[in-house]
Amino acid sequence: MIKVPYSVKLPSGERYSFIKNTLKSRTLYTVCEEAHCPNMGECWESGTATFMILGSNCSRGCRFCAVTHGKMLPIDPDEPQKVYEAVKLMRLDFVVITSVDRDDLPDKGSQAFANVISKLKTANVKIEVLIPDFSGIHEFIDKIINAAPDVIAHNIETVRRLTPHVRDPRAGYDQSLNVLKYVKSVNKKMITKSSIMIGLGETDEEVIEAMKDLRNAGVNILTVGQYLRPTKKQLEVVEYSPIERFKYFEESGYKMGFDYVASGPLVRTSYRAAEAYVKGILN
Ligand code: SF4
Ligand code: SF4
Repeated sequence: MIKVPYSVKLPSGERYSFIKNTLKSRTLYTVCEEAHCPNMGECWESGTATFMILGSNCSRGCRFCAVTHGKMLPIDPDEPQKVYEAVKLMRLDFVVITSVDRDDLPDKGSQAFANVISKLKTANVKIEVLIPDFSGIHEFIDKIINAAPDVIAHNIETVRRLTPHVRDPRAGYDQSLNVLKYVKSVNKKMITKSSIMIGLGETDEEVIEAMKDLRNAGVNILTVGQYLRPTKKQLEVVEYSPIERFKYFEESGYKMGFDYVASGPLVRTSYRAAEAYVKGILN
């Protein structure tokens, strides 16, 4: 077994407990918990959390992901209000919203996702959304664009060659690139973002190619992080990359013209999401 070479702060502290209780009392889910994210201690203590809407069970089964795949439940009509109240209680000024995939629903959950964004627009917070691919259907992606979040993120997750091995067969490397391209084609000013995990056996050249593909799709913000196996049910880690490899991708990303690049072992899509905002990339 390969030893994890990165130290992770275990979740604890008053603010962490407060957030945990707030979420539990409203039956809200966070990707932080569902995906066993290693940054929970740091993020929750600093007041950032990523809400996972549309239920806790995903209709897809990506081989790196720890989100559960049980029975698909009906959408909770009170979810926008519950998320709104939690954001207010937690006094967040930057909120990240993501969802499981809902291939079981006729509109793939796009309207329910848009409803949460619309409600949060009244909460005076910056909103970043990490969206599913909605099977690439423009009509569904339009609902998100029209709800006008501040950032639309969609992850390609890995390099082209490894996509069929790592992601659910209904996902696709080109389908994800096309979602990002489409968002920009509808609204040039929309800030877009995507993430790549490394440590699954990809070469440096393949990562650079994926980064170029994202840049060509007009993506503004890139994150690169180490894949960490959430439980024994998911894919094994092929290698833990040294810090220099992350630095190389960060420097390459800036040379390619990304506005903001976060690259490091524990970086996740929403890790320090507010930093791009603080650095003035978002208005
Ligand atoms: Fe996880 Fe894949 Fe479902 Fe996203 S689509 S929640 S990565 S299983
Ligand atoms: Fe949650 Fe994102 Fe922070 Fe992980 S990086 S704990 S998912 S906010």
